[in-house]
Amino acid sequence: MEDLFREKPSSFNARLHKGRIEILQVNVGKLCNLACVHCHVEAGPAKMRENMDQKTAEAVIRFLDRFKIKTLDITGGAPEMNPRFRFLVTEARKRNVHVIDRCNLTVLFLEGQENLAEFLASNQVELIASLPCYLRENVDKQRGKGTFDESIEALKLLNCLGYGEKDSGLVLNLVYNPVGPHLPPCQAELEKDYKERLSRDFGIIFNQLYAITNMPITRYEKYLRALNQYDSYIELLNQSFNPVTLEGLMCKNTLSIGWDGRIYDCDFNQALDMEMRNGKPFTIFDLNLKNLEGTEILTGNHCFGCTAGAGSSCQGALQ
Ligand code: SF4
Ligand code: SF4
Repeated sequence: MEDLFREKPSSFNARLHKGRIEILQVNVGKLCNLACVHCHVEAGPAKMRENMDQKTAEAVIRFLDRFKIKTLDITGGAPEMNPRFRFLVTEARKRNVHVIDRCNLTVLFLEGQENLAEFLASNQVELIASLPCYLRENVDKQRGKGTFDESIEALKLLNCLGYGEKDSGLVLNLVYNPVGPHLPPCQAELEKDYKERLSRDFGIIFNQLYAITNMPITRYEKYLRALNQYDSYIELLNQSFNPVTLEGLMCKNTLSIGWDGRIYDCDFNQALDMEMRNGKPFTIFDLNLKNLEGTEILTGNHCFGCTAGAGSSCQGALQ
């Protein structure tokens, strides 16, 4: 059992430890066709430099083999824009590794990605797709004008291929994150609303909704500060600290790999350059996973973003 807070803390000082690593989450880079205001990796169309190369992608596959990892979770940026994306997917699938693609949906309509949806379906890639709201105004406000309509078209295309259909083996999960500086509402209730609205308005189906709390770091921190809402948001996260969420935190069973092969406890630590090290940084090229179990996770006040309210992780609420 972790050390738990007895009272609501003002700084995050819970001691967390790595458990058995079950998921390798690989951030292949910061290149993205969008530049959303809440983006904790500060991705965007100009981020050409920070992207995974072939040598590192091959090291990822060797790592899957060596440590018998069963889930590869590929994120970015828009991970599909990295030329190594399809290599990672096909090599992982050859090994029967479950692959997750964190997809912004609009990427399906980029030049050069015409057969992307079919590629994902034929490899039975699970999609975790961002759709911060079922209302056009809110999505366009957070992700850019026209994003909602393109996302809806992408979801229809994915449904046509069988994504979201029960027993099709093609899983389509959606991600909600708040448009304003507040916590997500109840995930189950929101999923019901999403299913009703998307089905009624557009005939769209999907499997699950993940409600994710916005992290007050990097680009979202700057956005909140510009609106003079940073301090009140931090206060809200602190005051909403829920010790029950500590048990299920994703940093315990996930290892996060950066575009250059460096290793982190989670994608948020990666965005903050809080790399795992033992004298020198661990990398995918030389890491022995067995040495990690039981080691202490690097934490900071941003961890309140994962532990507020119902908790938050890349798989949605923790409670
Ligand atoms: S949140 Fe996702 S879609 Fe938006 S800029 Fe960041 S990586 Fe791209
Ligand atoms: S930000 Fe969240 S996932 Fe990352 S170390 Fe902190 S609690 Fe764990």
